[in-house]
Amino acid sequence: MNTTIHTEQHAGITDGLNRPIHDLRISVTDRCNFRCVYCMPKEKFGKGYQFLSRNELLSFEEIVRIVKVFSELGVRKIRLTGGEPLVRSELEKLVEQIAGIEKIEDISLTTNAVLLNQKRAGSLRDAGLNRVNISLDAMDDETFMAVNDVGVPVQKVLDGISTATAAGFDSVKVNMVVKRGLNEHSILPMAEYFHGSGQILRFIEFMDVGNTNSWKNSEVVTAAEIAGLIHAQRPIEKVAPNYRGEVANRWRYLDGGGEIGIIASVSEPFCGDCSRARLSAVGKLYTCLFAADGHDLMRLVRDGVSDTELSDKITALWSGRRDRYSETRTTESVLRPKVEMSHIGG
Ligand code: SAM
Ligand code: SF4
Ligand code: SF4
Repeated sequence: MNTTIHTEQHAGITDGLNRPIHDLRISVTDRCNFRCVYCMPKEKFGKGYQFLSRNELLSFEEIVRIVKVFSELGVRKIRLTGGEPLVRSELEKLVEQIAGIEKIEDISLTTNAVLLNQKRAGSLRDAGLNRVNISLDAMDDETFMAVNDVGVPVQKVLDGISTATAAGFDSVKVNMVVKRGLNEHSILPMAEYFHGSGQILRFIEFMDVGNTNSWKNSEVVTAAEIAGLIHAQRPIEKVAPNYRGEVANRWRYLDGGGEIGIIASVSEPFCGDCSRARLSAVGKLYTCLFAADGHDLMRLVRDGVSDTELSDKITALWSGRRDRYSETRTTESVLRPKVEMSHIGG
């Protein structure tokens, strides 16, 4: 894993606030085997919900072509996400092709791990996947099933974490979204479980992504609260970031039990260093997680533009980027139309 790329001289494009483009997050599907209440609530994503058809999704060939163009503009890290990326068949083939792009240094996957069996984990690693982030929001089945809303028990995800660890990825991290009234009582049990395990647990503040999760500021358990709770149980101290633009604040247990991370996108926004672009499942480029709409790269690709034209378009879009949503969040902006998490990925 290369964790120094953010500190190197960046030869690529920069945006209207002088931020480079380093990371591209790609949503490979809008489908998911979970219905997490903060992401794809059943009332909105129920039986009648119309998911995208195969032809509406970017093909692997189209994704690879777009990634190549981005890599020439400065992108070095790729994250595959969704929806649930492992419901997309033959994802290994996509990983392999992306790994073959010269300037791409790091490929990671965000998954709920239900479909991560030994065979799949091994073939993803062999294809060139470097890192895996696994989402788990509670240690007890009652809470976890209330979150995923499809009856998946905690053990299923713990098995996925063990499988990923055994497969030998450069890192396996665990992500827990914390929503007040839903799972904040799981903060300490989660911290205790992963203390000393070698896996880094990262807490994520509940965010107002999309318009379907009925986000309220009062439901955000802030990074300060989370750190305070953990510190009272087992003392922790802050650690310097690995690189400029790292999204999680790092903390270390004083007793040597390893590290935790806290992603404070609401209470301590980090737009100033945001070098992430996002490509949705339908091939739209979003320059911010909270954008209303994206720029249709799939249409350009299917209309037969050249790589140079595609590159010029992306350069123009990134150059004009001035997004800093989290730093300017207001009660009004929360209600504005925004793309859903399941389309754009986390
Ligand atoms: N299905 C995969 C998973 O859950 O890991 C990948 C996609 S999911 C959208 C990516 C990450 O976004 C997950 O860690 C999820 O918990 C997080 N997430 C989803 N909705 C969120 C929200 N409203 N606020 C904060 N994080 C959220
Ligand atoms: Fe699916 Fe991930 Fe969203 Fe949960 S957070 S509904 S697992 S996409
Ligand atoms: Fe980046 Fe937008 Fe998040 Fe700010 S709010 S860190 S610009 S994605």
